Amino acid sequence: MSVFAHPDFDRHEQVVFCHDQASGLKAIIAIHNTRLGPALGGCRMFPYANDDDALRDVLRLSRGMTLKSSLAGLKLGGGKAVIIGDPHTGKSQALLHAMGDFIESLGGRYITAADSGTGDAEMQAFAQRTRHVMGATPRTLLDGSIASGDPSPSTALGVFVGLKAAVRHRLGRDDLTGLKVAIQGVGHVGLGLGRHLKAAGAELWVADIFDANVQQAMEELGANVVRPQDIYGLDVDVFAPCAMGGILNEQTLEVLRAPVIAGAANNQLATPEIGAELQRREQLYAPDYAINAGGIIDVYYQRIGGSAAQSDAHVRAIGDTLQQIFTRAAASGEPTSVIADRLALERLQAGGDAQPEALQRQAS
Ligand code: NAD
Repeated sequence: MSVFAHPDFDRHEQVVFCHDQASGLKAIIAIHNTRLGPALGGCRMFPYANDDDALRDVLRLSRGMTLKSSLAGLKLGGGKAVIIGDPHTGKSQALLHAMGDFIESLGGRYITAADSGTGDAEMQAFAQRTRHVMGATPRTLLDGSIASGDPSPSTALGVFVGLKAAVRHRLGRDDLTGLKVAIQGVGHVGLGLGRHLKAAGAELWVADIFDANVQQAMEELGANVVRPQDIYGLDVDVFAPCAMGGILNEQTLEVLRAPVIAGAANNQLATPEIGAELQRREQLYAPDYAINAGGIIDVYYQRIGGSAAQSDAHVRAIGDTLQQIFTRAAASGEPTSVIADRLALERLQAGGDAQPEALQRQAS
């Protein structure tokens, strides 16, 4: 396995291979870039088929976090951790403590949070060994209620705001009454997005591979349920991918007709060329790391001790950032994914001083 010659190696600052004989921990932490601040990104646990798959995932995800935080105007760098193992059967306190020790050994250059396969319980276990963990402390929300550090409600809010910006740009409508939306995956974010859409009067179709989540979406959202393989081909206004990555590919594009694609999943484009193909077909794609930044924004304000109101305002600025991306893409004829990368890199090079326009307006 090569690291420096790996196709997904992108001048990462540090890649740490972690092994603890006693607990059986095998993990990789990748710090992509700390120019804007400490590298913050979730710790994923997944039964990778081999070490190469884990390395590829952590290299790609950590780079994505650099772009996501930069585009969102946060003073955070990009990093990610992966634990190689089954999240249902492979966890022990000893293993989580060993992981916490490795995170602590980096002295705050990498800060962890929940991700696929980890949640509140794991963050609590890490927090017994390291200060550099987010989401382990309960906090007060805007309505005064106390919540865990789980940032997925903020991710859902950001996706909703971004979806509205996309619908306004592509379909020329502000009123979502009767808007037809297909949500792929009604987990933490997909269900939250569904709640916002239902309140706005949209008509929902959902698919999930986990029966309990389908049931909840039916009961709570009054959603129409389709089989997972049928979610792509529906005659809807918006396709909202909120399950896994790589779902915009040659096969799904054969049936996907929705004029707007706006959802929470990371790494939605199977290849960069798919972004260009969507542009040619006039299917407006809301770049994944732009629209799903609500969670990292929430975590950032938790970290600096900011208020729920500050976090909420910043999450809502996702709509303006997307509007800017759509306008630039329409003017230049380039894919929205290319414009998002350019904006993120511009902000990275400016040292994080270039804030999203909506926040600049608020500050002035
Ligand atoms: P989750 O695990 O709570 O929900 C995902 C849902 O997708 C589950 O209900 C699962 O059963 C379903 N699913 C999996 N494969 C499916 C398939 N083939 N077809 C239909 N449904 C399927 O995860 P989440 O926290 O809601 O995150 C959803 C997506 O958003 C992920 O890609 C995640 O990386 C991304 N994301 C999440 C956050 C966050 O704050 N949670 C932030 C940014 C990005």
